Amino acid sequence: MSDLRDLYQEVILDHGRQPRNFRVIEGASGEADGYNPLCGDKVHVYVKVEGDVVTDVSFTGDGCAISKASASLMTQALKGRTTAEAERLFESFHALVTGQGDSAEAAAGKLDVFAGVAEFPARVKCASLSWHTLRAALAGRDAVTTE
Ligand code: ZN
Repeated sequence: MSDLRDLYQEVILDHGRQPRNFRVIEGASGEADGYNPLCGDKVHVYVKVEGDVVTDVSFTGDGCAISKASASLMTQALKGRTTAEAERLFESFHALVTGQGDSAEAAAGKLDVFAGVAEFPARVKCASLSWHTLRAALAGRDAVTTE
């Protein structure tokens, strides 16, 4: 079994303590609530899309270090990407944390620190909550709950 230290790498702890883009976006083009009942993580994701480019993305909420770090790193990875690229990155990130599929794009987006999550099935929802919530915000849905 992998050591817990592998999961809580320094970058995850850093982003968990000091999340980036942790703020409200006034006049966001989309926003959604995400809830992970398994862990109690709550996130609210804001996204601003101009044309088909994500020009700003942020989040608020509270949860475990992994959920906050994942949201923080997600906002950094997505800014300036098209919505189609965001969708591809979502799929690649999902492949990364579940250990299935092609995760090369997520790794290139500096999201590979979450690869260790694949060893801890209960944590996969913590790591993917913000991404599911972003997807809901882009699709015009108000809320998403992981199951
Ligand atoms: Zn969590």
